[in-house]
Amino acid sequence: MTEPCLPPTTPAFAPTSDPLTPVRNITHAHFEAGDQVVVLKGVAGGELWGNSMRVVAPSWHTPTDEDGWRLRDATGGAQTYVTGHPRYLVHLSRRCPDCLIHLRAMEDHLLPKYAGQDALIDCGWYTTTALNQLVHIADVRRGGR
Ligand SMILES: [Zn+2]
Repeated sequence: MTEPCLPPTTPAFAPTSDPLTPVRNITHAHFEAGDQVVVLKGVAGGELWGNSMRVVAPSWHTPTDEDGWRLRDATGGAQTYVTGHPRYLVHLSRRCPDCLIHLRAMEDHLLPKYAGQDALIDCGWYTTTALNQLVHIADVRRGGR
């Protein structure tokens, strides 16, 4: 995967299951302030794409009632700062075996489903609450807010 492209257009919404992120085993301490990360959201032109963000500070993730990270999304507009769970995040800023394994697994799961499509596909896994909490669809189903 190369640096995820920033979507220039509104993505096509194509709900696809994401069985991998919800079961990802990654600790809060895996990340630290200043890390550059990506939150994967779909597929574009045969590659994964997502929102590139910078880890800012520890923050409580209310949808899961677990430790999360406050993130800065430079393109986020009114939602420049959101709080996400560590398992939503994949390192961009350094070569990280744990995150690379997750990236590869996501590629193997998703890319064949959209082979030959150039459109920007948003798989619809994430929403942002009114309190700027980024929440994965699997965590909504668990009863998060
Ligand atoms: Zn990592």
